[in-house]
Amino acid sequence: MSKQDPNIAFIGLGNMGAPMAHNLLKAGYQVSVFDLVQTAMDKLEAAGASQASSAAEAIQGADVVISMLPAGKHVESLYTGDSGLINLLKAGTLVIDSSTIDAATSKAVASQLAENNIHFIDAPVSGGVGGATAGTLTFIVGGDAQQYARALPILQAMGKNIFHAGDHGAGQVAKICNNMLLSVLMLGTSEALQMAIDNGLDPKVMSDIMLQSSGRNWTLELYNPCPDVMPNVPSSNDYQGGFMVDLMSKDLGLAMDTGLKSQSSTPMGALAQNLYKIHGMQGNGQQDFSSIFNLFSKQEK
Ligand code: NAD
Repeated sequence: MSKQDPNIAFIGLGNMGAPMAHNLLKAGYQVSVFDLVQTAMDKLEAAGASQASSAAEAIQGADVVISMLPAGKHVESLYTGDSGLINLLKAGTLVIDSSTIDAATSKAVASQLAENNIHFIDAPVSGGVGGATAGTLTFIVGGDAQQYARALPILQAMGKNIFHAGDHGAGQVAKICNNMLLSVLMLGTSEALQMAIDNGLDPKVMSDIMLQSSGRNWTLELYNPCPDVMPNVPSSNDYQGGFMVDLMSKDLGLAMDTGLKSQSSTPMGALAQNLYKIHGMQGNGQQDFSSIFNLFSKQEK
């Protein structure tokens, strides 16, 4: 099969990045990959990617660079500073950063790259490892409309719902607002279900009632936190897989920073952040975030 334009460099092949890069290969793009972990690159090479020995090598000949890294400091050091890619990327390159990071770092990287005529969009994702594997991620983009249009076909190879939230940083803000709400919904649903159980109700019946009443929400529809109410969700699999408590804590930290800068009142988010922090400190950081149900549960653990 002849390869599709443009050539893509993909940096960061972790839980999310690896399946995303796989989907770009499946869509026919030529992908050059780099990660600090050798085995992650070997797997992508076996699927048709070319493997680079550094980020600088990966971007040679690339028109588009995608990064999927843990946090803002990784993104900043990859692109900016004396040893950053800023000095190596050709003018006109489009950088798509899909990591979940603070909007301020995202905006700062965008404006520094712009000085060298390198385009940047923030494109964090929702949908987890399952969505990354299935190619059904939601992308929430911040950046100018022209670069959004340029990125669209590439994002469509990895996702299903693509939104243009606004200018640089808006993708990160939108993603963090959503995850703050999700944490609050998960806590509220857990609290309500446990109170029903404490009063002798069956959590499955209670869930069905709330699903048809005004308490209906995403966690009840797709991600019930009470074990054995729903099949194929982390709560029915000892809270394994899914979206880790530590990652939710990280996102709530970003949400609190965002709220502080915009002088927004976020009492629910602040409470959620503290409860998730306590839950993580109690040794549950690697469990799925729906395990917060155990904070309320009186069941034997
Ligand atoms: P991960 O820790 O599994 O992967 C990060 C990868 O980046 C690792 O393979 C690491 O070796 C690599 N890396 C770090 N620094 C690097 C560098 N300088 N050069 C090259 N590679 C480098 O993390 P993940 O779960 O894939 O998450 C990535 C991002 O996506 C995070 O910002 C996370 O918050 C966000 N996110 C994760 C999920 C999820 O469910 N896991 C969902 C939505 C968003």
